[in-house]
Amino acid sequence: MTQFDYDLFVIGAGSGGVRAARVAAGFGARVAVAEADRPGGTCVIRGCVPKKLLVYAAHFREDLDDAAAYGWTTDATFSWPTLIANKDREIARLEDIYRTLLKSAGASLYEGRATLVDPHTVEIAARRYTARHVLVATGGRPVRPEIPGAEFAITSDEAFQLAELPRRVLIVGGGYVGVEFGGIFHGLGAEVTIAYRGEQILRGFDDDVRHHLHDELVRKGFDVRLQCDLRTIERRGDGSLAATIVTAGAPQQLELDAVMFATGRQPDTAGLGLEASGVRIDANGAVIVDEYSRSSVPNIHAVGDVTNRVALTPVAIREGAAVATTLFGGRPVAMDHRDVPHAVFSQPPVGTVGLSEAEASTAYAAVDVYTATFRPLKYTLSGRNERTLVKLVVDAASQRVVGAHMVGPDAPEIIQGIAIAVKAGLTKEQFDATVAVHPTAAEEFVTLRDKRAARR
Ligand code: FAD
Repeated sequence: MTQFDYDLFVIGAGSGGVRAARVAAGFGARVAVAEADRPGGTCVIRGCVPKKLLVYAAHFREDLDDAAAYGWTTDATFSWPTLIANKDREIARLEDIYRTLLKSAGASLYEGRATLVDPHTVEIAARRYTARHVLVATGGRPVRPEIPGAEFAITSDEAFQLAELPRRVLIVGGGYVGVEFGGIFHGLGAEVTIAYRGEQILRGFDDDVRHHLHDELVRKGFDVRLQCDLRTIERRGDGSLAATIVTAGAPQQLELDAVMFATGRQPDTAGLGLEASGVRIDANGAVIVDEYSRSSVPNIHAVGDVTNRVALTPVAIREGAAVATTLFGGRPVAMDHRDVPHAVFSQPPVGTVGLSEAEASTAYAAVDVYTATFRPLKYTLSGRNERTLVKLVVDAASQRVVGAHMVGPDAPEIIQGIAIAVKAGLTKEQFDATVAVHPTAAEEFVTLRDKRAARR
């Protein structure tokens, strides 16, 4: 029998890779992990966690404004360098925890860029290691549009490390990363323009959610340009930027301090040696896998963003655990990608699970829709003109709630609880039989009564 150095070699110490390594080691497998940058990966180092810390920072502005109506007198100033230094300290602490987690699981960590030499051999810094199984968990990287002056723009990677807060920011892209960073810069005092090619921000989300968030952003003072293209970026002598955007054929020049591309991410497979080892890759560079995350080469699996399925941390973690259990736990586990809840940490935030109204209308013969909009109680004293949206999408025949959506304070926290009910397949009647918690925004999900048919 062939002797391998390891039972499992994981390439990438991000959300999916670290979980797979730890679970596999827990089953007694000999595990190695390669990491080209910092253990923790995108989510911990330059994604979910630092982003959420910046979102908290940005929301203090509205909290401080609202505090006056509650009797508080405040005289607040903001320091970007303090925020970034404190955020960096926390991220370094988390990185250390990830190192410790791998070490205490008994996995070897190799720091360096790994390439695949053949299906059982991984190379890092000119040293080769063999493994019975290889797991590709290399994540993704930001896409940079190829336009003149693209080199002057930042992506989310660099946004976390800016030396100072830009005063005038153009965000290019209307996906969740774009609206989240728009909210961060706007909340911290910048003038924010969001330029998006499509008809409405947050493509893929429920249409009511998209329109509601758009209107709230505009009400807060964002300059949201839809069906708008960025053509060029120039750097001026004083270090500022000039960007030319085009809406309905009409060009306009914007004076800016920063342009941020939030134009999507692509799987990080370039130069990895996958194709040479026989691993099939799709046109976007994603590893093609089956429901067990197995690639076209039976001993090579891939999880997380590199497979371009549902690019979220909890999904990568689940996929990683499923692979480890399938390979070493004696039990095949397939990943279920249905009813994965999503959050957008915009201001106000979005929480969503299950089908949008449009998706449900395609999937079912008839669909009932329930919506409510209201001003959050907290804003009644301060007079803040922000409204919350809650929405349920129900299959008319079975009365099962197949989608739940919310835009408003605490929406991501609330939707996590609602997601259990949607995943469990509960009916509208069972939602209605649940007694409300009062006074909350979440109670709207169990008191919705005004029904309309889905728009087709
Ligand atoms: P990653 O976490 O990206 O890890 C891949 C690792 O592989 C990296 O550390 C990389 O350095 C390493 N690597 C790559 N190539 C090699 C190589 N050849 N050799 C060795 N190592 C290599 N998700 C959420 O659920 N909630 C959020 O709020 C959220 N916010 C986000 C905000 C931003 C700005 C971004 C960019 C992403 C966000 N995400 C969020 C998505 C989330 O970060 C990813 O879905 C998740 O990190 C994917 O995990 P992964 O294991 O697939 O890859």
